[in-house]
Amino acid sequence: MVKVTGGQRLDIFGIKKEDLPAVWADRNAAGMVSGHAYAKALRTVKTCVGSNWCRFGTQDSTGLGIKTEQMTWGSFMPHKFKIAVSGCPRNCAEVGLEYIKKRIVEDVEGRVALTARFHFSQRFMQDDPWAKRAAGEDYKLHQHLAEIRPLAAPALVAA
Ligand code: SF4
Repeated sequence: MVKVTGGQRLDIFGIKKEDLPAVWADRNAAGMVSGHAYAKALRTVKTCVGSNWCRFGTQDSTGLGIKTEQMTWGSFMPHKFKIAVSGCPRNCAEVGLEYIKKRIVEDVEGRVALTARFHFSQRFMQDDPWAKRAAGEDYKLHQHLAEIRPLAAPALVAA
């Protein structure tokens, strides 16, 4: 089953474990990074359709979402973390804005310091573990642990 998520991701289900590295390799070759589905990390940058497609849209929320995700993927956090971008105050991408506004919009010094720290950390963090595995690292992780076969019947020995 393939499911397109609200965060513009493709959930692909039912792939055999041993086939995953080849799937990751195909996706990397197509220019996609596998999502950190269960990680304490940035999971996704969700967007509404924005000014390209919505009559209420005043901004290109999808474009900003793409840029934001390209900048932030691979950032690990104390908890799962999602960002969302809406194209107008109707807020279809659903963000709790008040705290963010206080820390990011109103506190300019704090914003500059946080931005510098974040960009510095990203220099070391944008490291795609699925691409590494697709290229051969830890290849045994996705093999069967054992091959189970029926035991051969013992040879009969004449008395
Ligand atoms: S937040 Fe909703 S109404 Fe506003 S641009 Fe996005 S989709 Fe349209």
